[in-house]
Amino acid sequence: MESRIKKLSEQMASGQISCLELTKAYLEAMEKDNQKINAYVRFTPETALETAKRVDRKIASGEPLLPLEGIPMTLKDNISTKGIETTCCSKILTGYVPIYDATVWELLQKQNAVLLGKTNMDEFAMGSSCETSCFGGALNPHDTSRVAGGSSGGVASAVGGNLAVYGLGSDTGGSIRQPASFCGLTGLKPTYGAVSRYGLIAYASSFDQIGPITQNVEDAAIVYDTISVYDEKDSTSRGKVNAPVCESLKNSIKGRKIGIAKEYFNGIRDDVNSAIQNAIKVFESLGAQIVYFDMPSLKYSLPVYYILACAEASSNLGRYDGIRYGYKTAHYADRNEMVCKTRNEGFGKEVKRRILLGTYVLSAGYYDAYYKKAQNLRGELIKAFEDAFQKCDVMLAPTVPMTAFPLNFTAKDAVETYQTDICTVPVNIAGLPAVSIPCGFDTAGLPIGMQLIGNRFCEATILNIAHQYEIATDGQMFRTAEMGVKL
Ligand code: GLN
Repeated sequence: MESRIKKLSEQMASGQISCLELTKAYLEAMEKDNQKINAYVRFTPETALETAKRVDRKIASGEPLLPLEGIPMTLKDNISTKGIETTCCSKILTGYVPIYDATVWELLQKQNAVLLGKTNMDEFAMGSSCETSCFGGALNPHDTSRVAGGSSGGVASAVGGNLAVYGLGSDTGGSIRQPASFCGLTGLKPTYGAVSRYGLIAYASSFDQIGPITQNVEDAAIVYDTISVYDEKDSTSRGKVNAPVCESLKNSIKGRKIGIAKEYFNGIRDDVNSAIQNAIKVFESLGAQIVYFDMPSLKYSLPVYYILACAEASSNLGRYDGIRYGYKTAHYADRNEMVCKTRNEGFGKEVKRRILLGTYVLSAGYYDAYYKKAQNLRGELIKAFEDAFQKCDVMLAPTVPMTAFPLNFTAKDAVETYQTDICTVPVNIAGLPAVSIPCGFDTAGLPIGMQLIGNRFCEATILNIAHQYEIATDGQMFRTAEMGVKL
């Protein structure tokens, strides 16, 4: 499938369209269509127009454009933007305006990326439907009676609804891949450490990773190559260890071994399963070899993820006390009451649930029974993936056991909702890269996604295989929604 980023860049360079015209087209479409899908929680027209004019001056002077120069895009609202309110879609951060930029945003500004606005998300990235946002959830551009997914639901809704060319989300347990899958898009969760977390407001620091959501694989590769840079401001940063991923997209996948662990398919809806079986046939026709094996420790993934993520969240969210950031309660007798009331009024229900769970598993009496046990099992899962990658080059799995939920589906039962993360959390536990790409549609026409999982820092391999699948299926797995910019 053709890269949208490259196409728009070429049109700007050749004078077919100016960056200002392109940017205005997006801003106008946002005014008209954002109300249908609630993708954006904040528009940033001033910065967008200013950047667009700068890009046009550069084009006029005959200078060549950098890959992301002048391309209209969005950032999830947990990525810090200097001078632009950043709330994590939580009442507790209302009015918080960062005084510094996240490293990823700094890197994009060096390329004159055109920021259209900040996008909706589950509060503090905790959720799978975007509905825990204090602004109400983002809707699915293919069917607005369905959710866009979560937690980076706003990015997927904007990119799927043609209100941004691409966006950056964050993935702690699936938050890039799951909404990408629900909205029929490409979502890349990079290897832990490949992209700097500096300026990403923390949920669970040993899992969090920033990555792109795009309309096709090549766009994801272009964005990934730009943002995967070593950063001394993030102690877990490694940057890109191998060559730029764009260089290997066109490679043949003949002889590549694609591994399938049957545990990933337990409880998967039939239509999702058959879409993946069809994809397997496509991979075989391209000369790839499918290898099947068991990975029994995958069954521990969900409890391990929810214990460790909540434990880390309970610690990370301790900083919101009404003194340093955002919201502060209006009436209080003393400091203790101020902190308690601020946190009680400022955090939503799901965030409170996780702080309670996390505090419980870290408490003196239960630390060994829960936190320590989960850490040990994390080690086992890492080992299981290491063994798996002795047998194959990449692994193939569903992204989500189903397609986009109807609205309010997740209000019923928290544990039932957590269970829908079953296929996405394992790679976060092991720190591995994975990309979700569309691979079919259900009977209602909603997109189905599959993920290709790679070994550490093997983004090039998963993106190469994903891109070759896209070519072999002639871009038929991507359908554009009936809204937004048509250019
Ligand atoms: N749905 C998962 C959770 O609620 C993943 C969220 C994420 O990746 N930020 O924890």
